[in-house]
Amino acid sequence: MTDCDFLVVGHGLAGATLADELRRRGHQVLVYDAGRPDSASRVAAGLVNPVAGRRFALAWRAAELIPYATAYYRALEARFGQPFFTAAPIFKVFGSAQEQADIVARSATQPWGDFVGDVLAHDPGLPGVLAPHGGAWLRHGGYLAVAELLGALAAEGTAAGWLRRETFDWGRLVSAPAGAEPEFVYDGTVRARHVVCCEGAEAVHNPYFSWLPLTPNQGEVLDVECAGLDAGQVLNRSAYVVPLGAGRFRVGATYRWPPFAEGPTADRRAELAGRLGALTAAPFAVVGQRAGVRPAVRDRKPLLGPHPAVPGLSFCGGYGSKGVVLAPRLAALLADWLAGRAELWPEASLARYAALWPAPVAAVERA
Ligand SMILES: Cc1cc2nc3c(=O)[nH]c(=O)nc-3n(C[C@H](O)[C@H](O)[C@H](O)COP(=O)(O)OP(=O)(O)OC[C@H]3O[C@@H](n4cnc5c(N)ncnc54)[C@H](O)[C@@H]3O)c2cc1C
Repeated sequence: MTDCDFLVVGHGLAGATLADELRRRGHQVLVYDAGRPDSASRVAAGLVNPVAGRRFALAWRAAELIPYATAYYRALEARFGQPFFTAAPIFKVFGSAQEQADIVARSATQPWGDFVGDVLAHDPGLPGVLAPHGGAWLRHGGYLAVAELLGALAAEGTAAGWLRRETFDWGRLVSAPAGAEPEFVYDGTVRARHVVCCEGAEAVHNPYFSWLPLTPNQGEVLDVECAGLDAGQVLNRSAYVVPLGAGRFRVGATYRWPPFAEGPTADRRAELAGRLGALTAAPFAVVGQRAGVRPAVRDRKPLLGPHPAVPGLSFCGGYGSKGVVLAPRLAALLADWLAGRAELWPEASLARYAALWPAPVAAVERA
């Protein structure tokens, strides 16, 4: 029998940061990850964008989450001796005179703190960039090499034996009877005090958590080669353009609600190429295309916390399109809560959806 304190299912951004946090606190952790190639984390562009979306609104808790995430990724860089996070200015290109007028007017009251720097009503003349209506420089953003970071953590885990590249079968998990100390036995061979579901969008099929209001959303990105663009900044208009190095850029992203396509599609490739063409007059060549599924949530806030009826079983995820900035702080928050040292933030706690849980009926039946 293998004994551990925490059994973590999933090693995307949510599970990897949680497992890392728990291990740094001295816990025995065992992680199962199926290594799905279309997991959100393996496809993500890694962008940290403090002010995004059509409403050009400051991201949720940006002032706390962005510095926390940056410091966390820097610490991992020091540990692995490998760069993961690139701090970079983001140039938000105004798409029209109307958008320019709206944002220039709002900039007078600075609703974005120091996340927005210069707001330009003229084309700044960035090499290769089409910005006739000007744009705004965003500060404290950047991008994470997500696949490289997860690869480094996973290599550590497989070498040390705390990560298993296997699909976790929830049907083989047995929990202790009600009233006993929380304990789980998996497959008759692993004993754990706690189990945490970090399955990303796959959690819609989880027998314990399928009642949560996850609304998976498929996204595609293109990798392009473009010699005419500068790698010193991220561009953002109807698409974002994130430097990958060596003249390559990741362009994203699309949004598709179910039914999902089987992998990358020609129509989304054309859509992204068209959006990039609106941002640059420089020629580019598409060298890659990927599709993944975001673990989005109905109210666009994360889902953290305990199962309503199974002691020791928790959920960590629902990061939607913001996993890079959310994962480190929320891993620490959940670890603090598991240790009895913090309350979960109400807007991130899955308890806000307790009314969706169907099991009061089951509880009555058991009684
Ligand atoms: C096209 C696209 C672009 C994106 N761009 C960005 C971006 O620029 N910035 C940003 O912050 N976010 C971005 N995101 C969102 C980001 O990828 C997600 O928020 C984040 O990766 C979610 O992490 P997760 O760990 O919850 O889920 P996932 O990354 O999906 O990880 C879940 C893991 O669990 C494993 N798993 C599931 N079930 C089981 C099981 N039963 N047994 C074993 N293993 C299992 C899967 O194999 C997977 O490895 C993007 C997403 C997409 C799709």
